[in-house]
Amino acid sequence: MDLIVQKFGGTSLSDEQSRRHVLRHIVRELDAGRTLVIVVSAMGRRGEPYATDSLLELIRLNGNALPARERDLLLSCGELISAATLCSLLIAEGIPAVALTGGQAGIMTDARYGAARIVRIQTEAIQQHIADGRVVIVAGFQGMTDRGEITTLGRGGSDTSATALGAALGAKIVDIYTDVDGILTADPRWVPGARQLPVVSYEEISNMAHNGAKVIHPRAVEIAMKAGVPVRVRSTFSDGEGTLVTRSETMRESGVWIDRTVTGLAHVSGVTQLAVNSDNGPSELQLRVFRAMATHGISVDFINVMPTGVHYTVSESDADTAVRLLRELEFEPIVRRGCAKVSMIGGGMNGEPGVMAVIVEALTTAGISILQSADSNTTIWVLIAETDLAAALQALHTSFGLHLA
Ligand code: ADP
Ligand code: MG
Repeated sequence: MDLIVQKFGGTSLSDEQSRRHVLRHIVRELDAGRTLVIVVSAMGRRGEPYATDSLLELIRLNGNALPARERDLLLSCGELISAATLCSLLIAEGIPAVALTGGQAGIMTDARYGAARIVRIQTEAIQQHIADGRVVIVAGFQGMTDRGEITTLGRGGSDTSATALGAALGAKIVDIYTDVDGILTADPRWVPGARQLPVVSYEEISNMAHNGAKVIHPRAVEIAMKAGVPVRVRSTFSDGEGTLVTRSETMRESGVWIDRTVTGLAHVSGVTQLAVNSDNGPSELQLRVFRAMATHGISVDFINVMPTGVHYTVSESDADTAVRLLRELEFEPIVRRGCAKVSMIGGGMNGEPGVMAVIVEALTTAGISILQSADSNTTIWVLIAETDLAAALQALHTSFGLHLA
């Protein structure tokens, strides 16, 4: 029998009506004879009672004083509530079901609390429940160490639970159910004309996710890609087929990329640009600057090394530390806060010469300055002022024809 993994995100579980939609997708697959392993996130988003952010609120009055181990205990509760609630809904409908913690489901991790890595999955317990005819519901975002400690996998971790289980169980597909119709050409909150993509490659969506598209977690994509498990991102609230994530070879063979250079846009805001100039020999400067950032664990991006100095970006939260370190080295950086990074991503781009020209023309016509740019064979990045972000995304989306069906 075909086994499929279904993952339901927070907004898909937040109220009775949403959970009825979840039930509909479960019943449809059961009726089609499929075996189901279901992964659930915590219910709702910030502000709703059992959402992860609301759990964190409980310790805020204590100045967030809580060791990492106990913090993970607290964080793991949201998914447990979802799992038990969904289990109850299924049982009420006469569908045999069982709810499991990550650890009970055999998701074994290292002991890095808050950002644990899955080291292996022991599938025996799940297999036994399946053999006993139950729908298995697993609390996402969490695992267990070999010593029995509860760990969490970091933000977006339920996606990772789902694809890791899919890989371990040899699932036919992992369906990621969420509040949008699939993977779109841009974040619909920023680009209302964003259009659903029928198919993308693992590399493209991993690239989009790394560059800020939070529709699926990049680590989840990488696990699925390694195992060759197909993933689909689809809506809980409709019956659409969603977006299929598949191998780039399949994409190339099907000819999708022939007339699609740019697949989608992604963006990150809260970026600070730093420029350090020097007259006396660039190489020592470069070395000292980047060594200082590295020793303090500050990740740098958009690195541009020139004979006269270096330009690079850090995230807003690291900006003050970065500036202090530079001053300690007796450099006076030019600091530009409030920047955003826009990424144009496409597996079919492959060094196409015209792409950069389209970008420059689109942004210049819209009166937007490009502060820095960089490119690889599948992505072009531009740095702009955050205040230009909405206009830039719209302009680029239109210029690449992403709004056209
Ligand atoms: P869930 O709770 O189901 O995990 P998320 O909030 O993590 O949902 O992810 C879904 C959201 O991702 C959408 O509501 C959308 O705003 C955002 N998003 C960002 N980029 C994209 C994109 N390219 N395509 C679809 N959704 C995107
Ligand atoms: Mg998510």
